[in-house]
Amino acid sequence: MTQPDDSTGKHDVRMRGFRSRTSVEDALRWIDANVFPLNSEAVTLGDAHGRVLASGITSPIDVPAFDRSAMDGFAVKSAETVGAGDYNPLPFRIVGVSMPGQPFEGVVERGEAVRIMTGAPIPHGVDAVVPAEYATVREGSVEITTTVASLKHIGRTAEDVAAGATVLAAGHRLRPQDVGLIASLGLPAVSAVRQPRVRIVVTGNELAEPGSERGPFQIYESNSHIIAGLVPRDDGVLFERIRCQDDRESILAAVTNPGADVVLISGGSSVGTEDHAPNIIREVGELPIHGVAMRPSSPAGIGRIGATLIFLLPGNPVSCLCAYDFFAGRAIRRLAGRNPDWPHRTEAGTLKSKIVSQVGRVDYCRVRINDGRIEPVALSGASILSSTTRANGFVIVPSALEGYAAGTEVEVRLYS
Ligand code: AMP
Ligand code: MG
Repeated sequence: MTQPDDSTGKHDVRMRGFRSRTSVEDALRWIDANVFPLNSEAVTLGDAHGRVLASGITSPIDVPAFDRSAMDGFAVKSAETVGAGDYNPLPFRIVGVSMPGQPFEGVVERGEAVRIMTGAPIPHGVDAVVPAEYATVREGSVEITTTVASLKHIGRTAEDVAAGATVLAAGHRLRPQDVGLIASLGLPAVSAVRQPRVRIVVTGNELAEPGSERGPFQIYESNSHIIAGLVPRDDGVLFERIRCQDDRESILAAVTNPGADVVLISGGSSVGTEDHAPNIIREVGELPIHGVAMRPSSPAGIGRIGATLIFLLPGNPVSCLCAYDFFAGRAIRRLAGRNPDWPHRTEAGTLKSKIVSQVGRVDYCRVRINDGRIEPVALSGASILSSTTRANGFVIVPSALEGYAAGTEVEVRLYS
């Protein structure tokens, strides 16, 4: 074995191994202490779905802005309907029509009614609407066969939203109906937390692109295709993918290129001679976390260059997925103003066979669920990507435990 080249400084861990590993808890603490929502930007309603509000929405208007009919029928004075019924139809003179957007302009007098449609403004002088099924029109007048109370079938001004009311709070992630409500207030845009721009830098001399000719000892590049599905889940925008050989200069250029809030580096994160990224980050930025007490993903790293967050994702595909999910995903959700906690749906169940771990290390164990019985997938090394496709989800074994015995009730985070 060749001696490590220590010319890059005292922190060069290449070929020496990690002296100590950061705990997962400390790595998460670093993220929480250093990563905050990005600034805000104006977003038009068409692009607002799923976005996180940077400031709350206060209504500038009453909705509805006028009393309106909730039924098709006739607007009348409720007091004049007293005693009306099937055996006592009461006649009213029809003096006009109120349509949505086209109110009846006059004032309704005694003995009069206005034909009215759902959503049309309530004319002056009336206080109730008789539904059409209780009204029979005969030559310019209408016979009413039901008694209505005051305000019956009238939607009152501001009953939906009152002017000045805060309808959605800052930090809320907009659902379709939220965007509709904002539109109903007449607002064309919202102030949303900017979505983090994420670049992935894929390193590895041995990698070939899917669809291309593969040399005998090359492997197809898969990590960026895992990441491409995870970043949008966390509200990041994967705007760029750069392929690098294991070459200092090209990796340096790829990570320092401006324009990214987050740079994910796949591969070359560990202590091999071709693992350039950790030293590069230390030289041009900081790498407070390198080596984490977990399995897989122990060669993961977290740092930054200026305001850009850097995540070293080990090249083994399961490690890459796991390191993303533990650290990068959380940071991206924090930048995006989202709830930073695990986004997966969970399912509880009983372990059919034991999960073995080690005290002092967090384990990410892929499991299958059958009728509520949970079983670790058999072949599950960090390089066995199919362990994640055969699995329904994963169980996290905390560092304080040396595993879970068969029969233990555990929580599975489901892959989606
Ligand atoms: P590294 O972290 O670069 O030492 O890589 C660890 C292992 O993961 C090696 O077997 C690599 O060939 C493999 N690997 C690295 N990058 C990728 C990738 N993008 N897709 C699939 N496998 C990879
Ligand atoms: Mg590599």
